[in-house]
Amino acid sequence: MKFISCLLVFMPFWGIAQNPDTKQPEDRPAQPGDRSDPQKARFVTEDIARFWEAFDSAAVDTADAAALLKSLYLDKGTLGLKKFNEVGIKGVDALAAAIKKYRPYYESVRPRTLQIATLEDTIRKSLVKMKRLYPEARLPDIYFLVGDLNAGGKSEKEGLLIGAEVNCADDNTDFQNLPPAVPAIFKALGFAHIPSLVAHELVHYQQSYRFTDKNVLAYAIMEGSADFIGEKISGRSVNIVPRIYGDAHEKELWLEFEKDAHTDDLNKWLYNGGGSLERPGDLGYYIGYKITEAYYRRSRDKARAIKEILNITDFDAFLKESGYGRQFE
Ligand SMILES: [Zn+2]
Repeated sequence: MKFISCLLVFMPFWGIAQNPDTKQPEDRPAQPGDRSDPQKARFVTEDIARFWEAFDSAAVDTADAAALLKSLYLDKGTLGLKKFNEVGIKGVDALAAAIKKYRPYYESVRPRTLQIATLEDTIRKSLVKMKRLYPEARLPDIYFLVGDLNAGGKSEKEGLLIGAEVNCADDNTDFQNLPPAVPAIFKALGFAHIPSLVAHELVHYQQSYRFTDKNVLAYAIMEGSADFIGEKISGRSVNIVPRIYGDAHEKELWLEFEKDAHTDDLNKWLYNGGGSLERPGDLGYYIGYKITEAYYRRSRDKARAIKEILNITDFDAFLKESGYGRQFE
């Protein structure tokens, strides 16, 4: 369990910092099929039932767990699952190890994962709104998959890949063997939050950014703008914990952020998940949200502002144009 991406969670004790999930647009060739119609994007949940079949078989024959997961789940999976195995799970052995160690967790979220199909109408509304806000939007297939508790959501050229097992925890979930910080984080996500997570990933899918500098400012705006537009299309904030803290400490956070904005110390502001009890992680999402919000508010032509937010070529100019931060001088 190295990270949950793109949002959120952290497993620092697993040692590997997360790579941001967004690709440069040139890495994303158009997918087959029509990506312009919100009604035609496929909502793919079939890998979930397949996972549980493999999971049950692996419980009976634990010595062959990895082979069973491979033959019954990964090999039979959709295009989305194949990609997820590369970028989220990172191989059958990781998956076999996770279901062995966290079996009670998996068991307890199983019923919820099997209800994800009921979210289709809600999520499709976000696709429709995305298209309305940004007529050039491309609307990919959305895959719901089960992984090794590493990936919450990813935006890949194959489609949006959502980790069902990460996003289905609730008060009845059994967190046995998971690190102590995990329950609060996973419960802050949860089933009701899935549409806003999909919306966030859908915004990443639209972003066409030129990164001249991979610095804190650029990444914060990339993530914060996905939160900002994601909230517009889903009606719900995806990053509630940083928002509450951020609103209470906005000025001091900004002054601190400003000093780090042109460094590449991303993990101080992003992809650091839970943070500490005193200070939540992912506060760069909050600052990026506030910059984007300020930019949008100052723009007279809102449709044009959305297009500009999704196609930033100069992050310093974007910040300057937003006017954000000047209120604290
Ligand atoms: Zn993101």
